[in-house]
Amino acid sequence: MNFRELALSQAILDALKVEGYTKPTPIQEAVIPLLLEGKDVMAKAQTGSGKSASFVLPILELLDQRRGEGKKAKIKVLVLTPTRELTLQVAAAFETFGRYLAVKPKAVAIIGGESIGDQLYKVQQGCDVLVATSGRFLEVLSKKQMNLSHIEFLVLDEADKMLNLGFSEELDGILEAIPAERQNLMFSATYPQKILDIASKITQKAVEVSIEDETETVANIKQRVIEVNRDNRGPLLRHLLKQEKYGQVLVFMANKRATDNIAMKFKKYGLSAQSFHGDLDQEERNETLQAFKQKKIQVLFATDIAARGLDIDDIDCVVNFDLPRSPADYIHRIGRTARAGKSGHALSFIDYESMAHFKLIEKRSEVTLKREQIEGFELLGEAPKKVKGPAPVKGKGKSKKDRAREKAAQEAKKN
Ligand code: AMP
Repeated sequence: MNFRELALSQAILDALKVEGYTKPTPIQEAVIPLLLEGKDVMAKAQTGSGKSASFVLPILELLDQRRGEGKKAKIKVLVLTPTRELTLQVAAAFETFGRYLAVKPKAVAIIGGESIGDQLYKVQQGCDVLVATSGRFLEVLSKKQMNLSHIEFLVLDEADKMLNLGFSEELDGILEAIPAERQNLMFSATYPQKILDIASKITQKAVEVSIEDETETVANIKQRVIEVNRDNRGPLLRHLLKQEKYGQVLVFMANKRATDNIAMKFKKYGLSAQSFHGDLDQEERNETLQAFKQKKIQVLFATDIAARGLDIDDIDCVVNFDLPRSPADYIHRIGRTARAGKSGHALSFIDYESMAHFKLIEKRSEVTLKREQIEGFELLGEAPKKVKGPAPVKGKGKSKKDRAREKAAQEAKKN
């Protein structure tokens, strides 16, 4: 199938061509026709599947078909996303694919870390599409200076990533502010009960689309598990960068401070590295991301939160310097490489302490991977012995008083 068969207008086809999109991905093939028919859609899809274009393209098409003559733009589309980066990417996608339309749609991103006044000003200048993180959107909404009565499309992108952010309550406030009659679309990598509850809040009549491309993506990723002592992970990574000649590398770490420290160390060794975490302000994040995309930075050390939703092509290798806490995040992390049909590498560093956790990850991801050791970086020491016997029970130990009494008795015996 090609994009022309999906009944998109020439202006959109031209933009697709410029962007190098030759063939729709499975999610695009499934979702685009449904949205063009005016259906609500609930889609199970991952980042990397091409899901952004699957809603951006048909919405642009419908906006274009329903465009009135010479009127000031009204907000017709609201997209909610879990992160600032994803918000910016989706807003950019609307502009990129809409740029050859007779009336270019305007998309405004509403994200934390930037002035509300500036964002409101942009909205009031007239825009067709609002892309926002939900918390910030509510803040802007509370100023009561936006007209949301023309909203025709509501999109929840990466809904599963919004769950832990108190999203369900926020959504209630947002739904109250927009028209009940609208087309709804939701994307989520998983559909636990909480997500289904959210889905039922926004629509009762959605067509369900499930694209099992997760395994397809993972099939293109060469996964390796390397046993190495904690302190040797940095030197091993430098060694592998040199030996394997990886291009762009995204390294996941457990905490912010560690990403700063290691990025500094790598720079000392003459490598182009940078850290990426939630403590950076928005401008620093944008700059770092831009530099990484433009390959001015080769190695990006990131925390999970910061890396969520990043849309970067050409990541050659994803490294689990620290394992993800949740086994589900493993697939999500390594899916950052091998995007849109390319191949990629994923390395996980494990030591005695994380071995059991990695087994869990394998079970959950339905893979069994060979453990490797790299010459010169072998895992030393021994596995910590399991503690034998029952663990001490709280409250059953000797009290201070008892110990004092025993001591006194012993002293008395001695005398
Ligand atoms: P997404 O899942 O929307 O984050 O998209 C993942 C990556 O695939 C993005 O970098 C897109 O630019 C790219 N992409 C999406 N659809 C296509 C397509 N049909 N052809 C080529 N690249 C695509």
